[in-house]
Amino acid sequence: MIQVIVQECSEYRQDLLQEKITAGIKLLGGWDQFVSPGMKVLLKVNLIGPKKSETAAVTHSEFVRALTRLLKKQGCEVWIGDSAGGAIAGIAPTAQGLVISGLKKVAEEEGAVLKNFDKEGVVEVIPHSPYVERMYLAKPMFEADQVINLPKLKTHSAGIYTGAVKNLFGCIPGLKKAEYHRLAPNPRDLGHMLTDIHQSVQVGLHIMDGVIAMQGEGPTAGEVYPAGKILMSCDPLALDTVATAMLGMEIEDIPILISARERELGESYLNQIKIGGDYDQPPHLADFKFPKRFRSAKKGNHAVLVKLIDFLKTRPKINAKACKDCNMCVESCPVQAIDEATKKIDYNACIECMCCHELCLHQAVELKRDSLWAEIFTRLYRGTYK
Ligand code: SF4
Ligand code: SF4
Repeated sequence: MIQVIVQECSEYRQDLLQEKITAGIKLLGGWDQFVSPGMKVLLKVNLIGPKKSETAAVTHSEFVRALTRLLKKQGCEVWIGDSAGGAIAGIAPTAQGLVISGLKKVAEEEGAVLKNFDKEGVVEVIPHSPYVERMYLAKPMFEADQVINLPKLKTHSAGIYTGAVKNLFGCIPGLKKAEYHRLAPNPRDLGHMLTDIHQSVQVGLHIMDGVIAMQGEGPTAGEVYPAGKILMSCDPLALDTVATAMLGMEIEDIPILISARERELGESYLNQIKIGGDYDQPPHLADFKFPKRFRSAKKGNHAVLVKLIDFLKTRPKINAKACKDCNMCVESCPVQAIDEATKKIDYNACIECMCCHELCLHQAVELKRDSLWAEIFTRLYRGTYK
């Protein structure tokens, strides 16, 4: 039976992090199952953009430090890598993100090698799904002897949830990400691309940083939620199944995970997963705030309301007062729907990928229902199922 380890860990203290991760690895069979001395081990972090670790938008730098120290004790060479989303002046802000998140400092202090996926070259793979003929994935994913995925526990304004499966989207270097968003605008279609990526690379282990999580309008504009958990598994879908259960969601609620289930990327039925570590059932994260777009899957009771909510679309709107005119959203929009001068969005062109909301560093892209009545209705409805 597939195992997911759930450990309690309420702070980024090195002794605590290392103790909890070590205990979890033991339950998964020990480090020998995953690494051996001399191996190059890539830690694939979540570096969505130039955000500080304390915002819960990125894998916390102290979490990465703990893994680096543990792997060095095993005699491994450690690489830390990812590619950020978005663009400023046509350049993906990965290098800036490595500095602001604190990952560059950790790499320097711990003797790890930084791998900026935008600069390391690509490997061409043939995806199973029909959206692109060829995919280009960052070379370090193939050059490392072992890859450990380090996702962050977060909500996502378009995809509802982002975790172990979604974290590999960062294997697509630089601005190619926007192109793939354009070709697969629906989160369900994007899920097929994510499954393609997982099926093209070898990842040995997934360790989720849920010490602090992001709730509300993630993956960058939400609020910090002190979840106090570390999740570990060899199966990314099983890990996401347990993580979403902790939040009170089901796989059916998360469109980007539907394809992973259909294409049997891993286990997605809770009763087929053995939970170990500090818990034997998914611990409930009380009062966790969902993103606005979340339609409760508590079908039956509210089926009509759910349909009505679906009809009342959530759209991105730029708040001119908060906007700093950096043009990150303009340059990152996959369909050029944002006017550079006025910052008005052309909703006929917009594919609702929410990249502008995800990437704005100033939280100036708000998600609004189409009308005031729709907004009021949504709030009332939310009160009925919380
Ligand atoms: S909305 Fe945000 S990303 Fe877009 S120009 Fe304004 S500050 Fe920059
Ligand atoms: S305006 Fe925003 S949500 Fe619409 S397509 Fe562009 S980036 Fe995506």
